[in-house]
Formats: sequence, structure tokens, C-alpha cells
Amino acid sequence: MLIFTEKKSLQSHLKAFLNQKKTIGFVPTMGALHNGHLTLVEQSMGANEVTVVSVFVNPTQFNNAQDLEKYPRNLEQDVTLLQTISDNIIVFNPSAANLYNDEIKSIPFDFGSIAMVMEGEFRPGHFDGVGTVLTHLFEAVKPTNAYFGKKDYQQLLIVKKLVQLNKSNINIIGCEIYRESNGLAFSSRNQLLTDTTKEEAKIIFQTLLEAKKMFGTKNAKSIIDYVEDIFKKNNEFELEYFKIADTENLEITENFDNTKKYRAFIAVFTNQKVRLIDNIALN
Ligand code: AMP
Repeated sequence: MLIFTEKKSLQSHLKAFLNQKKTIGFVPTMGALHNGHLTLVEQSMGANEVTVVSVFVNPTQFNNAQDLEKYPRNLEQDVTLLQTISDNIIVFNPSAANLYNDEIKSIPFDFGSIAMVMEGEFRPGHFDGVGTVLTHLFEAVKPTNAYFGKKDYQQLLIVKKLVQLNKSNINIIGCEIYRESNGLAFSSRNQLLTDTTKEEAKIIFQTLLEAKKMFGTKNAKSIIDYVEDIFKKNNEFELEYFKIADTENLEITENFDNTKKYRAFIAVFTNQKVRLIDNIALN
């Protein structure tokens, strides 16, 4: 498996493929790979002649230094996992200095209202960091198609907006959320959970499923009250937010309009302060 740690050497390797007009699929990750990441890699492998997976824990998208510090990292294990799919995957694992051309800071973006709510509201600066790192990564890889999970649904919309703002013709492909057998969405942060917490964290998806069941018979306000109540009664998990938003523009709603499509979004902290997010389509 080829592993590049420098933008220049990656670019000179990819140049031949670009000249031959080969399709390049790209899966950006922060490593600590799991089966959810692998579904994106498999999608890319199935649809492109070349697949690049980046493994880079992006400092500019963390608004909390402790969160950045405790983020799991294990390149060797990541490579072993990728090898279970194919030896032909190209891994890009740059240093921050190399990727950012020695200037490790965020560019401000005008993503509009989709960046103001939920992750944008609770993690100030997060999406500027995401936009900045992806601008650098897209420039390095020049992919035809780039794959993103709906697990980070708001991020998926931000990336679609980013390629518009950057006038880039990369196709952004949204991939379904891959879950553990108990319903918990796969996440690198799950590695920070004890087995007991991981089992109990099924409450997140169960609550989303319950919200989906209530949609159609209950108004948005009663669904929100129901979810807030579930977490008030729970000592293991603290609710940061539960929102119902328009799928297209993430406008938060408390009243349904039956011509629109909605998703429910949730962020919780475990009692070990691990932050988990999830979401579900309501209709
Ligand atoms: P991360 O390494 O957490 O930045 O994630 C890299 C990519 O994998 C992002 O596009 C995520 O949305 C996606 N991803 C993470 N977890 C899952 C999952 N459980 N199912 C599908 N995609 C996922």
C-alpha cells in the first residue's frame, strides 16, 4: 500500500492518473478507521479507477483543545484495516505543516445559514476548519468524486456548498450511516467508550427511531419535548441538542409543513465527556 506524507509526492504520483483522465475517488478521514469509513472506501473503489484515503486529524476544526488531544490516532491499524479491502488504496497522511503550507489556520467561509445551527452553533469555527482542510486536501488530490457520510449530515451540506464557493467540479457523494448491531452509529469516538457505555449509547438511535415514529401523528414541539424528557431522566448521557430541521437548508422547525422533508439531529455527551452525534430522516 502506498502511503504519502507529503503533498508534493502525492501530487506527482497522481499526475499520471490525471493525465490519463482516470477517475479519482477520495475519502477524507481523521483516521481511527472503522467499518463506517470502510463503506465509503468500498463505494469509492467500486466507482473510481483510483482511490485515495486521507488520514489527518485536522487541528483547525476542533474548538476544544482537550477533544483534539484525546482524539484517537493509530495509522498502523488504519493501514491494516484498509488492506482488508485492497492493497491498491493510496493513503495520504500529511503533517499539518505540510498540508497547510506552514500556516495552520482557518480561512473564514460564508456558508450562510446552514453553518449557523447545530454543529456550527455548538462548535464555533468548526466549519471554517472543515472548509479550510478540505480546500487543501481537494487541491492536493484533485478528485473526480469525494465521499462523505450522512452521519455528519450538516458537514455533507457544507461540503456541497464549499465546492460551489470554490467553483470546483468535484462530485460530492453522500453515503448512508453505518451502524453497530445495537443501532449506535460507528464513530472513531466510540473507541473512547467503555463496553457498557457503548451498549447503553443505543439510546441515541432508539430515541431517533422513536422521534421518527412520532412524526406524522405528533407536532414537532411534542417530539422535541419527548426527547428532552428522555435525556433529563438519564444519568449516563447529557443532551447537548435535539433539533428537527429542513433537509435542504437546515432551517430549524417547531412546526411541520407537509410539503417539506425533515431530519432529526442529536448531539449528546457521555458521562466520560465523549461527544456523539447522529441523525435520521423523518420523512
Ligand atoms: P471522520 O474520520 O469522523 O472525519 O469521518 C470521515 C468520513 O466518514 C466522514 O465523511 C464521515 O461522515 C464518515 N463517517 C463516519 N462515521 C460514519 C458512519 N458510521 N457511517 C457512514 N459514514 C461515516
